[in-house]
Amino acid sequence: MSFQDLPLAERLLIARRGTAYFAQRLAELTDDDLNSDTLLSGWSRKHLLAHVGYNAAALCRLLDWAATGIETPMYASPEQRGTEIDEGATLSAAALRNLFDHTVARLDEKWRHLPASAWHAQVRTAQGRLVPVSETAWMRTREVWIHAVDLGNGGRFGDFPDVVADSLLTDIVGMWQKKDLGAGLVLEVDGCAPIAVQPDSPTSTKVGGSLASVVRWAAGRGAVGLTSGADAQPPRWL
Ligand code: ZN
Repeated sequence: MSFQDLPLAERLLIARRGTAYFAQRLAELTDDDLNSDTLLSGWSRKHLLAHVGYNAAALCRLLDWAATGIETPMYASPEQRGTEIDEGATLSAAALRNLFDHTVARLDEKWRHLPASAWHAQVRTAQGRLVPVSETAWMRTREVWIHAVDLGNGGRFGDFPDVVADSLLTDIVGMWQKKDLGAGLVLEVDGCAPIAVQPDSPTSTKVGGSLASVVRWAAGRGAVGLTSGADAQPPRWL
């Protein structure tokens, strides 16, 4: 079962649960803790918090686009996105917590009020892909669940709903295949058929373990709990 096959209401529910999961990790951090590093190199928790807040604001722009037909991109440019995060990271802890809460509420409101007929409207992702605006449910789901782990205070891939972990792995492998990466790499998730990333290339590396540990590794968040291949480096995903 993939995320995209779920009814829209359920997809939005999983995104909201991810937001709650992120918010819970965030609530456990003191203001001082926000100055510390995340799992993402070069980003403090303040950078991450700014990014997660501005991501929700950017998704709101896609929902506006779908609702009005007036093209409003997620970000004006990759540079603008980067500058916004760097400047956001200089805000106070209180301001960043507010930004998170406020943008979560705005996105939720836009999801709740988008007319049924507008959910199929096409919008463009930051990577330039045209997708129906309903894809914002998955875009936000990925962000909040993975970045909750990136906060580095106890978030675990093992806490993700299975459908999120499954769909994430499908996304990552698909991205590798599109970029022609991962020759020789075979993923062996416990209880599943092995996945050869480039089926025509001879196997050179096997990475195996629970679904959570393989997805974590594939997403570039380290080898935690793998039963094989822990020394291997994953190809870049994004
Ligand atoms: Zn992100």
